[in-house]
Amino acid sequence: MVEYQIMARGISDQRVIDAMLKVPRHKFVPENLIDSAYDDTPLPIGYGQTISQPYIVGLMTELLEPHSDDVILEIGTGSGYQSAVLSQIVKKVYSVERIREIAESANKKIEELGYHNIEILIGDGYSGLEEFAPYDGIIVTAAANEVPQPLLNQLKEGAHLIIPIGNFGQRLWRFTKTAEGIEKQPSIGVRFVPLVPETV
Ligand code: SAH
Repeated sequence: MVEYQIMARGISDQRVIDAMLKVPRHKFVPENLIDSAYDDTPLPIGYGQTISQPYIVGLMTELLEPHSDDVILEIGTGSGYQSAVLSQIVKKVYSVERIREIAESANKKIEELGYHNIEILIGDGYSGLEEFAPYDGIIVTAAANEVPQPLLNQLKEGAHLIIPIGNFGQRLWRFTKTAEGIEKQPSIGVRFVPLVPETV
């Protein structure tokens, strides 16, 4: 998977490659889909949600430019796979999920697998997570119609926010906080489940 789907498509950050080699993706998919765990596709994880395509996880992680002493905020825990990949690179990952059952199942998984630097919280990630802000990077794995202002507010200077924006035609964007303001760079077209504004 890493060689053919990640490196072959241009992901070159060695920290991202090493992290994706270490994290067992088959542990994050439903049991009946284990045979497809390393396929080049997103997979359903229940409640109408998905675990992202491996390449998209690699790309978003690379765009974030993570470092070993970073504290990162993820919005949309889902299976917990993206958190697990990040946890291999950075100091701490906070991940916010709106669906309680999904958050609980991801939490169980990361405990079983021994990822001690991930904290999963139930909440509406649209408003970020003020408690531990500002962050060295924020990654949103559900699509918003526009960039949530609270997430920009919770970035440190120099930090990136990686987020898919749009309805049917979505694009991945990288927002960077600089001394002069916010810089915005487009990446590829993507398709994510929507960022929904309330918890269940
Ligand atoms: N990163 C995940 C994929 C996430 S799918 C992985 O690696 O598997 C998107 C997730 O975002 C879903 O679980 C969905 O419930 C969650 N989500 C949607 N809107 C949200 C919101 N406002 N706050 C927090 N989580 C949200």
